[in-house]
Amino acid sequence: MPRWRLPSLPRSRIAGVSSAEAFRVLLMGTTVLAGLTHGSFSLLFWLSGVSLLAWVNVASVLLYGLCFRLLAQRRMLAGLLLMGTEVMGHAALAVVLLGWDSGFHYYFLLVVPVALVSTETREWIKWAFALGVMAGYVMLDLLCRHAVPPYALSPGVLNGLHYFNIVSALVILAFLASTYFRLVARAEARLRELATTDPLTSLLNRRALRERITLEDKRQQREARPLSFVLADLDHFKAINDQHGHEVGDQVLVQVAGALAHGVRDVDHLARWGGEEFLVVLPDTDEATAAQVAERLRLAVADLPRPGGGSVRGLTLSLGVAQRADAESTDQAISRADQALYAGKRAGRNRVVRAGSLPPATPGDQA
Ligand code: GH3
Ligand code: MG
Ligand code: MG
Repeated sequence: MPRWRLPSLPRSRIAGVSSAEAFRVLLMGTTVLAGLTHGSFSLLFWLSGVSLLAWVNVASVLLYGLCFRLLAQRRMLAGLLLMGTEVMGHAALAVVLLGWDSGFHYYFLLVVPVALVSTETREWIKWAFALGVMAGYVMLDLLCRHAVPPYALSPGVLNGLHYFNIVSALVILAFLASTYFRLVARAEARLRELATTDPLTSLLNRRALRERITLEDKRQQREARPLSFVLADLDHFKAINDQHGHEVGDQVLVQVAGALAHGVRDVDHLARWGGEEFLVVLPDTDEATAAQVAERLRLAVADLPRPGGGSVRGLTLSLGVAQRADAESTDQAISRADQALYAGKRAGRNRVVRAGSLPPATPGDQA
């Protein structure tokens, strides 16, 4: 019997969900923001007559351009180290030249969270780096807080610079935190979607439906409402694969999934339960009503157009229906729906069979 494997996910989708990718995007955004900040500093220092620092800022803008390029090329460690070195080297130089009150030391503190959330997998490297930054900050404080700087800015300019740096460091910190959490939340949502969705049909997968069944089970027990299951299996699907190829088989599965999704209520839960098998969970529905829904689904699938037009000859569904009985587990109810489905197969396929209509199971029957 030929083995059929689900199509693999495109690489770009996988890359798009990783937190490493989110971190890389975040850093690239940061380099743009940092480049703009240093460009404005350069202007400020030209106007204040501190041409050395104006040139240092021009160099910083170029360095951030290089960081952006490295990150775009996915050279993460090189990009990160260059960024960290630039931030600290630049801040230290500005504090030494202009004095502690200029407030450039605040930028040191931004390096710590970035190092710790970085995608570097060796924890000790992250912590060594972060502790090194903290030690550097304390040393800078010891050396510069009471020292007289070589460039004496006027008190007005120094004050302005001090508050500009506080606000700028806080804005960058807020940007880092909010963007990082937004990207991680988006990555998580996509991972959740991939973990709960069947990639071919976009229906819920078996695991996701199991979770919903557990919730419906609790609700049904609490409120004493009926809960039914419809298990549907395409008839002679292997023949479609054999005659038309697996791609057409896949298209048929997608079409069938669409027809089923269209035929159930919003409150029902539909999943691809296996290869060409689908399970519908119908809350607040007894077996007779579920059998009517199943019949509607059977007719909808029988009416499906063939991919190239016309109707796919012989494309039919067999469906088993079971209402969960008192003191029965949901697995047992699904198993009875399965028995009803296979009774339908044995009776000639293309039909709905209610588990309640079957004779009671004997120990020798198929589970
Ligand atoms: P029956 O009426 O007894 O259900 O016969 P059947 O041919 O439908 O059942 P069988 O279990 O013999 O074959 C199921 C086929 O479904 C075999 C398998 O290759 C195919 N299949 C399972 N998953 C996929 C899929 O994702 N894509 C395609 N194209 N085929 C699949
Ligand atoms: Mg089948
Ligand atoms: Mg099957």
